[in-house]
Amino acid sequence: MKRESHIARLPITSIVARSSCPICTALREFQNNLIKHLAPEDCRYFCNAHAWMAANGTPAEAIATIFLKAITDPEWTSASPVPEQCDVCRQMHGEKERRLDEITGQLREPRTRSWLHDYGMLCSRHGREVALKLPENLQKSVRELMARNSAEITEILEEFLQQVRKGSHAGGGVLGRAAEFLVAQRGIEI
Ligand SMILES: [Zn+2]
Ligand SMILES: [Zn+2]
Repeated sequence: MKRESHIARLPITSIVARSSCPICTALREFQNNLIKHLAPEDCRYFCNAHAWMAANGTPAEAIATIFLKAITDPEWTSASPVPEQCDVCRQMHGEKERRLDEITGQLREPRTRSWLHDYGMLCSRHGREVALKLPENLQKSVRELMARNSAEITEILEEFLQQVRKGSHAGGGVLGRAAEFLVAQRGIEI
């Protein structure tokens, strides 16, 4: 793709060391870059989420041209957030598949697998998708990692709930971590 030259694409191994799901983080960075460099010829159909992201983040001339083409096209309809319909979702889907392949390749290395198992984080959506791409004998490690993530978040969420019941609402970042674990980072549709 011509636009990939704009994108600083970090290897997944350097993203894995952060405390968030590395697939979510990679997709968020990809999406931010995509929206920032969206060209009129790249985007004809778009879903609700990507229309609003582009309205806020795409250079004005490009997004005004895209919207004008849509508004003046009698055939135009808004897309559902699926790769077959939205041009931005389609690119996100392609990048997700590339990143899933990258991380499953890394997980075949015993050292990376062991590190991720003990310290890493995967959201439940991407954890399930990573496991499905691995052979049966390597899936156990991902399931154990997700069980550990789930137990950690359960513990901090229960502590948070106790605090809330006592009237303290500090530490709301816990809710964001729980939301990420359940449904991936905010704004990652694919
Ligand atoms: Zn994720
Ligand atoms: Zn979309």
